Amino acid sequence: MKLLLSLFFAVFTSTCFSQQIEIVDFKKINATIKIDTIQQKVSGTFEVEFEILKDTDSVFLDAKAMNLNEVLSEKIKITTSADKIWFKNSFKAKETYQAKFKYECEPKQTLYFVGFNTYVSNNSSQVWSQGQGKYTSHWLPSLDDMNDKIVFNINYAAPKNYEVIANGILNRKRQRNDFNLWEFEMKKPMSSYLVAVAMGDFIKFESQSISGNTPIGMYLSSQDKANFESTYKYHQQIFNILEDEIGVKYPWENFKQVPVRDFLYAGMENTTLNIFSEEFVVDEIGFNDRNFVNVQAHELAHQWFGNLVTETDSEHHWLHEGFATYYALLVEKEIFGDDYFYYKLYESAEQLKVLSDQGKGEKLLNSKASSLTFYQKGAWTLVILKNLVGEYVFNQAVKNYLEKHKFQNVKTEDFMSEVEALTQVPLDDFKKNWLNQSAFQSKETLEILEQNELIKKYLKLAALREIGLNEKKEFIDEALDFPVNDYLGQEAVYQLSGENLELAKPYYKKAFETNNIYVRQAIANSMTKIPKSLQSEYESLLTDESYVTIEKALLNLWQNFPENRHEYLDFTSDVIGFQDKNVRMLWLTLNLITSDYQPELEQEVFARLSQYTSPGYAYQIREHAFGYLYQINTFTFQNYLDLMEGVFHPVWRFRKFCRELLDTLNKDQVHANKLKSLVNQFSEKQKTFFNNRY
Ligand SMILES: [Zn+2]
Repeated sequence: MKLLLSLFFAVFTSTCFSQQIEIVDFKKINATIKIDTIQQKVSGTFEVEFEILKDTDSVFLDAKAMNLNEVLSEKIKITTSADKIWFKNSFKAKETYQAKFKYECEPKQTLYFVGFNTYVSNNSSQVWSQGQGKYTSHWLPSLDDMNDKIVFNINYAAPKNYEVIANGILNRKRQRNDFNLWEFEMKKPMSSYLVAVAMGDFIKFESQSISGNTPIGMYLSSQDKANFESTYKYHQQIFNILEDEIGVKYPWENFKQVPVRDFLYAGMENTTLNIFSEEFVVDEIGFNDRNFVNVQAHELAHQWFGNLVTETDSEHHWLHEGFATYYALLVEKEIFGDDYFYYKLYESAEQLKVLSDQGKGEKLLNSKASSLTFYQKGAWTLVILKNLVGEYVFNQAVKNYLEKHKFQNVKTEDFMSEVEALTQVPLDDFKKNWLNQSAFQSKETLEILEQNELIKKYLKLAALREIGLNEKKEFIDEALDFPVNDYLGQEAVYQLSGENLELAKPYYKKAFETNNIYVRQAIANSMTKIPKSLQSEYESLLTDESYVTIEKALLNLWQNFPENRHEYLDFTSDVIGFQDKNVRMLWLTLNLITSDYQPELEQEVFARLSQYTSPGYAYQIREHAFGYLYQINTFTFQNYLDLMEGVFHPVWRFRKFCRELLDTLNKDQVHANKLKSLVNQFSEKQKTFFNNRY
């Protein structure tokens, strides 16, 4: 999986070893699952096949808060407890058994119903799953332990207006009276956390890998279909580069990707089905600031590293995340070039060094390590290793490791022993410094980074940050010379901020003239006070192909030049921005607080901004809307109710935002009184939360 906004948010994976793995091997699950979108419930007919390894009288599947409706196997006794389904019999070693039953449940997590219960009319609802860290056993009896791999063949019964996407091959779609039955089949076994389903108003774009061996399905919400090219740009190259670099053919039947609303992470690598956050759905302009290449490559790399070979436990989590991060970087190197590759490595080395210098460095083989360690230190570990043993040995070892352990579970030793088998280079220091050392070896990384000319220049320029402009003029000037480099140009601009404007002006002029959108974006990011003499240059930022730049520039221009506010608002009235409508939201807010601008539309404009707090919208949109409404200090009763809905949102960052905003509002008497007057409209859960907190 790939976390987006919080690198330090620990990854929770199962560390609890059940002894059951020595007693039973679950082989196959065949199930028909009905997803009830009205009651938000799941019911199913479920059949499991297992082989007994040691005589026993009971085995179990994990199953959280499930009701057993009917037992369909005669010889095996089936019972439920709070978090398990038990199968009882006098089971004999080497025998294979089948158990069949019907069950239902109301999943508290793992399966999410999004966009229901909303007053927004053109809303489209979705249902999707997130198994890793959340446990598939909340909606499907399965194993929380990653070490027993199962072949899952699941049919989904879903209302007719949904497209259903799941693991494996869709064999048939059958029409029933009030629903469609989607029949999926898998050929190979996988860990239960990789089971996935997504339902929604999706349309499919089809392609195939360049080798022709793998069908590729790419989905988008039907309203986003115009963004297909820009969202999935490079999808075939990404697939091809990974197959080439890894040296082992893509191991599954097909590959599908679907963006969903309110996803918990950036992306998740369910077997054959990567689910990713809708925020990566971009148009051509959005692509410049926020593209799906890295996340796409990262999740696809997991189809080998994580799905084909799976860690035995989280001590070896880097075998998933370090490898996926590393191979995604190799993909980006081919697409975006060497400078990009080295700059990304430089950035992660900086982050790791800062942490390490604070004494907070972590061993790679630490089951409780942060994501920064598993992902970035993991990737660096592979960069160092390849440099040490050479490309040939490295590539061959990776290939041997995957082939020897395919469809099984692995430990770090399993990978290292393949490297050791092929190289004469002693690896003791490497193991000590990179696998078992908490301090980050930044000197070693610097030697690699300095193989790249850009990084050498960048480090020289960055070393001037504390020096006054007068003493480094020629270096700033040179960094902005044609053809400007993105990274050097941005660094030069950031060093200008805080300098005497008269002195800095010629360099700002030069930076504007580079016409490089990232260099110009650095100006929008760092120059909030705009001198009159740079006004027209600054205004030209509103035409840049970057929604980040446009949002910043609009706000800064509006603040600096009140006499031109109408002109700026007119000019940007049609710009929406990213999926989270960043520019649109700012525009609506500025419209409202520019008192003489479109006064006749005030109510309509407010209504448009205000409705974006609804659960019918993505949490990113809602967060912007709440933020702006707070700034203009105007909440409708509906906004308060929407905020209460947010305090239980599955995305923890948004949930936290809503709770903090609620705390702030409750400190103000006017808001607090209005909120109190609404308590009777809260749900029971909301009422309890509210009354306990205030
Ligand atoms: Zn990942």
